[in-house]
Amino acid sequence: MKKMLIAGNWKMNTNAYEASELAKAIVTGTMNEKMNTKILICPPFINIPAVSEIVSTGQVMLGAQNCFSQPSGAYTGEISIPMLQYYKCDYIIIGHSERRQYFHETNETVNIKLKAIINSNLNAIVCIGESLEERQNGQTFAVLEKQIKEGLMNVDSSFASQIVIAYEPIWAIGTGMSANTEQVQEAHSFIREQLKVLFGDKANDMIIQYGGSVKPENALSILELPDVNGALIGGASLKADSFLSIIKIANELLSD
Ligand code: PEP
Repeated sequence: MKKMLIAGNWKMNTNAYEASELAKAIVTGTMNEKMNTKILICPPFINIPAVSEIVSTGQVMLGAQNCFSQPSGAYTGEISIPMLQYYKCDYIIIGHSERRQYFHETNETVNIKLKAIINSNLNAIVCIGESLEERQNGQTFAVLEKQIKEGLMNVDSSFASQIVIAYEPIWAIGTGMSANTEQVQEAHSFIREQLKVLFGDKANDMIIQYGGSVKPENALSILELPDVNGALIGGASLKADSFLSIIKIANELLSD
């Protein structure tokens, strides 16, 4: 059976009050229905304690948008995995294109963080994706292959179930311009083949999310693609109504 993870990446949005209200609306909106899809929200670090209490009563999981690889120590300004575990975070996003672009995240740092996350029994969402220039130059598959090979280097297949890949073409993030369904399926199928090289048959059960301007209007056409297992959602996850609409679409697809 197809698996689905619908995740909201709130980025650097919401103050503590707004985060609590948004989390409450999502928890309440998913409370009374059997959820076939997994649901995740990733608030800014500072709002994780408040949101942690709110999600504890519902079917919504909590995640972080980044972490540092060391468990503690003299790393001013960083947040460790044990700190996130204290608040019952289940997932940590790593390698988001905004972190690669503005904060020097590389495939190498992604690999170090990934190993720290999976060794701590948490799940990682590893973001990959090509720029517009790379796509126009026909380099999409080469970029994805390199990001997977280097980002997941020396990771044992026993950890496959703790790794989610989010395919996020950079040109589609926050632009309102989603990749078309052929582009999405082609990239996801390529990613799954690369994962099979690393993890064998376990790759068939791995979650590969699409991210890039997913909204209620285009969610069905993307989520129903064979190699798409959910979405990583930025803008549309900041409004409870639109996020809940996408969750409903995913849930109905899985109940067919
Ligand atoms: C994201 O933040 O990962 C993202 C895909 O953003 P948006 O949905 O706004 O394009």
